[in-house]
Amino acid sequence: MEILKSLAVILIPAAIVTAAVEPDLAEVRGRLPNGKFALVRLQFKKGVVVDSKELPKTFATKKGSLPQWLPYEDLTTEGKRWTLKALFPKDEWNKDGIKHSVRWPKLESVWLLSTLFTGYGQHYDKLMDANPNKPELFKEGDIWLIPKILLSPEFGGAAKAPDRSQPEDELSDEARTAAFRAMLSYEKDSKGDYAAYKLRKSETLYYSVVMRYTDLVDAKEVNQLANIIAKRSDIDDVRSIQPGQLIKIPLEYLTDPFMPEGSKGLAEERQMRAEVRRTAKIEAGPRLSGVRIVLDPGHGGIDSGARANGVWESDFVYDITMRVRRLLEFNTEAQVSTTLRYEGIGFGIRNSIPSMTKNAVLLTTPPKPNDGESAISTSVNLRWVLANHFFTRPKAADSRKTIFISFHADSLHPSSRGSMVYVPASNLVPSKFTWSGDGTHVSELRYGASVSFTARQKLESEARSHIFAEGLLKILDQEGLPIHANRPIRNAINRSGKSFIPAVIRTNMAMTKVLIEVVNLQNEEDAVLLKAPDFRERYAEAVVKAIRTHFKNA
Ligand SMILES: [Zn+2]
Repeated sequence: MEILKSLAVILIPAAIVTAAVEPDLAEVRGRLPNGKFALVRLQFKKGVVVDSKELPKTFATKKGSLPQWLPYEDLTTEGKRWTLKALFPKDEWNKDGIKHSVRWPKLESVWLLSTLFTGYGQHYDKLMDANPNKPELFKEGDIWLIPKILLSPEFGGAAKAPDRSQPEDELSDEARTAAFRAMLSYEKDSKGDYAAYKLRKSETLYYSVVMRYTDLVDAKEVNQLANIIAKRSDIDDVRSIQPGQLIKIPLEYLTDPFMPEGSKGLAEERQMRAEVRRTAKIEAGPRLSGVRIVLDPGHGGIDSGARANGVWESDFVYDITMRVRRLLEFNTEAQVSTTLRYEGIGFGIRNSIPSMTKNAVLLTTPPKPNDGESAISTSVNLRWVLANHFFTRPKAADSRKTIFISFHADSLHPSSRGSMVYVPASNLVPSKFTWSGDGTHVSELRYGASVSFTARQKLESEARSHIFAEGLLKILDQEGLPIHANRPIRNAINRSGKSFIPAVIRTNMAMTKVLIEVVNLQNEEDAVLLKAPDFRERYAEAVVKAIRTHFKNA
């Protein structure tokens, strides 16, 4: 409460001088405590930024040179309070919370208010509960109450981690998976066998059941299955499910770790966990000597990948890849190769990415532009062929020191956020496979396109990839970077009833191979992160740290 009082003193001088409104942008000019003025922008689905030119030092969490438009989340408590007051001068800050008056109905959303005032967009359902009967479609002058308890601690409230968090979040990957499993019981009714789950407080069918217990990720398919499960569980209205509701998940949709005792899937899961436990690390030292790394920036050229919230996959994951490449080249002896190069940009890094780069070339011999001449699947196949070439020409001295990382960003339901890592399920890797080349002629096909794996190799490769994924997620978490809350490591994707491994890691000869979905572009906060060069740098640093940890004993 004391904070609220002192805040009023700081905020009263913040006079609004101008307010411009455009379809997807609002801009106000507010008076700073130092007497100067600063522009504050609210952009549709992109959140709030402040012109940093005249900002007092005490407004930014970072020292040194600031980007011209400083994102709201990089402001100190003082800076955030000033910004909110400048944007919303009619808001009443009092001891019970904040009475927010909607000023720009087309730009504001419950998610945005949640992000600005509680610190987490994921609190939007709590915010809606606190404002019953308020339509989500805003009108100017609508009053939304943000109760004190929901305010972020820096505004004197008690909101902390998003309420999707559960006790098992603190556990290791294996223990968490076991905890999820322990919440199921296997039962039968007149319609057949099912896994029974009791929904906990603040859990949803979509997120806590389908996203956790199955390998579906496609937003539409997750929705469809949520509806199937609702029907199977005799739930009429999916939006009014109460905690404690019995959910019946038909067994055929469960992913391996959650299948009943005696099933093949569960046996495979246990075999993989046992392999993880007995796998000893391979030491390469801090300089990563003898390590061979192939980095694969997803998409590129005419293929933008996923698009949402003003961000597209290709250029942004390319930039992360280039940052990883640069860090490895400067600081280690690892042999680093890349599958793709953007013409005109080369292997450089960029802070600003204003538009999509159309010119990207796969680094085969001869190089193949990613220009749509051949199918996207051909481009994907050429990537693993090229990687196999890098790993075998000449043959790596220690094949266990090979690692392949493909960088992507996914497009899931807006409520989920953070990194997800795919590793190859050993039972879905073929024992022998040759790719014909689909009419493409590159010299790498000669040694890279034919592969064979023994059962032992498949298992060891899945285990080492899993160990790498666990290490990476742990580092991301320590660095405060978001990771997916429900099973962030997956070894298969299910689409249209079929389970598969992403092609780039399926027939790849690297011992450790992962496909990283850096963030979920559909989530507004994640999209804002990916756009920020500072996030991309921190992410690259985390990846390099994870590679070092992977090749270091104890
Ligand atoms: Zn992708």
